[in-house]
Amino acid sequence: IVELKNVYKSFGSNQVLNGVSLAIPKGHVTAIIGRSGSGKSTALRCIDRLEVIDSGEIQVCGHQVHAPDIDLRALRKDVGIVFQSYNLFPHLTVEQNITLAPCAVKGLSKAQAKDIAIRTLTHVGLLDKASFYPEQLSGGQQQRVAIARSLAMEPQVMLFDEVTSALDPQLTGEVLKVIEMLAADGMTMVLVTHEMEFAARVADTVVFMHQGKVWETGPGEMLRKPQTAELQAFLSGGL
Ligand code: ATP
Ligand code: MG
Repeated sequence: IVELKNVYKSFGSNQVLNGVSLAIPKGHVTAIIGRSGSGKSTALRCIDRLEVIDSGEIQVCGHQVHAPDIDLRALRKDVGIVFQSYNLFPHLTVEQNITLAPCAVKGLSKAQAKDIAIRTLTHVGLLDKASFYPEQLSGGQQQRVAIARSLAMEPQVMLFDEVTSALDPQLTGEVLKVIEMLAADGMTMVLVTHEMEFAARVADTVVFMHQGKVWETGPGEMLRKPQTAELQAFLSGGL
C-alpha cells in the first residue's frame, strides 16, 4: 500500500535520504526509529509529498506520489498525517475542527460530517469535548482531537511524526492507547517514534534509519537483538 524505491533527497549539499527503500503492506504498523537528523521526518513528509524527492519512486494507495501529474487532493484524501504540534484551529470548536475538511474537501453535508465527528471523537474517547475550544483541552486531548480530525477524512494510511514527544508520560499513554486501538482495527500506519517499548509491542516492522538509510529492519524483537553496532549504540543511548 506504501512503497519507497531507492529514494534520494537532499537539502542543498545535505544528503538526507540516501537510497531509502521500504514496503509497507495494508494493515501493517511500521515504526521508524533513529537519531535526530537521520531523515525520519523527511521520509514521512516525502510519502505525503510535503517534500519533493530528487530521485527514486514512492507509491501510496496506487498514487505515484512524485509523478508530475499527481492529484494532491486525491493523495491527501488517502493519507492522514499527524505531527508533534497538533495544529488545531484555535478559533474553532473540537467538532468544527473535525468537520471542516470533510465538508470542504469531500463535499459532505453538515449532518454527514457531524456523524463522522461523533464517531471519530467516540473512537478517541472525547465525545464529551465536542463543543470545547482547543485551549480548553490538555495537550494529550488536543493530540487525540488532531488524530480524530485526520481519521474523519477516512484515510487508507496514517502517518504519525513523534506525536507524543511534547507530552508528559501520562498524556503520552492516552495517545499511544488510541494508536494501539487503530492498530487493532487494522489501520495501516507509519509512526516515527522515540517510544521504543511501544514500537516493539505494536509495530509489525521496525525500521532503524541511520545516515539517511534503512540501516536495519525487522520485527519488534529486533530491538532486543540488534544486529548492527549502530542500532546497538542507538538503543543504549550512546554515541
Ligand atoms: P529528529 O529526530 O530530530 O526529528 P529526523 O530524523 O526527523 O530528526 P529530519 O527532520 O528528517 O530528521 O532531518 C534530516 C536532516 O535534514 C537534518 O540535517 C535537517 O537539518 C535537514 N532538513 C530537514 N528539513 C529541512 C528543510 N526544510 N530545509 C533544509 N534542511 C532540512
Ligand atoms: Mg523528525
